[in-house]
Amino acid sequence: MTVLVIGGAGYIGSHTVDLLINKGYEVIVLDNLLTGHREAVHEEATLYVGDIRSLEDLNAVFSNKRIEAVFHFAAQSTVNESVKNPMQYYENNVYGTMNLLKTMESSHTKYLIFSSSAAVYGNAGKAPIPETAPLAPLNPYGETKLAMERMITWWAASSKSKYISLRYFNAAGAKSSGEIGEDHAIETHLIPIVLQTALGRRKKMYIYGEDYPTSDGTCIRDYIHVEDLAEAHLLALTYLRNGGESNVFNLGNGSGYSVKEVIAEAEKVTHANIPISIAPKRAGDPVCLVAAAEKAQKELLWLPKKSSLRQIINDAWKWHKYNPDGFKTIAKM
Ligand code: UDP
Repeated sequence: MTVLVIGGAGYIGSHTVDLLINKGYEVIVLDNLLTGHREAVHEEATLYVGDIRSLEDLNAVFSNKRIEAVFHFAAQSTVNESVKNPMQYYENNVYGTMNLLKTMESSHTKYLIFSSSAAVYGNAGKAPIPETAPLAPLNPYGETKLAMERMITWWAASSKSKYISLRYFNAAGAKSSGEIGEDHAIETHLIPIVLQTALGRRKKMYIYGEDYPTSDGTCIRDYIHVEDLAEAHLLALTYLRNGGESNVFNLGNGSGYSVKEVIAEAEKVTHANIPISIAPKRAGDPVCLVAAAEKAQKELLWLPKKSSLRQIINDAWKWHKYNPDGFKTIAKM
């Protein structure tokens, strides 16, 4: 079975490609390599360098091979950047997805597994958050994910295609072998920043806000291992191939950790002192995002295998320790 992974050179995409190849799928990757890395793509996958904002690039891939399913990871995903450049987010994320859906329709591609986000919920007001919670994004990133989800719903209703939207909470960790991991040119995510500080690549790190209404005043997130996320994508495809209907699922562990708790756990894993400073709150940050993920467990038969924060930070640490320059280290080898 041939599947297309759009954004397969990115963080979550590359881990999913790796798993798909290991499970025997024929995998094509389409990625513009603006934030993704060629070295992250499994050598047995066929890589097309192209952009979903270009119908020509999409047609070049779809006209070459019968594709049964698409995994769509290609999106800009930084909250802060989206607040500064909302139009760029609409163009990349929403317009790009519109092109993808048109191309899938004309090539009669049956299944779409879509990377959505907990950012669609905004400040949900309760934890854990079920899929039925009100959708009220706090930033353009979350708005574009919601717009994409809604576009996909209407597209599927008018075609023979089916979709699964997966609302990720906070993806973290790395492949346990340490071969691939998280590498952003400008890092904004908590766990990589904490570990870069532990490595001494940063003198100190900043905690964005210490007076949130939580027990220690810092924001709470539900961290989920990237390998568990990858597994959920495969299960989502199996679910559709077995006759399951279009659906939406949260993917998280159901446990929330504050920024300070993450730093404390990282100090234990790395045996390093992690210097911190308190900085102003980041625009668009929800206070608390914790998943109710029973639906995915029940219906997709998804069972996260690396659900503890310790395991997640451990695997991320392996990647950062041995690849302090990310994929640049690997490219040199
Ligand atoms: N955060 C922080 N310092 C950093 C990076 C992140 O205090 O250097 C906080 C951020 O404000 C948020 C949490 O850590 O409350 C998780 O942020 P991240 O960017 O990893 O994920 P997000 O939830 O924004 O998608």
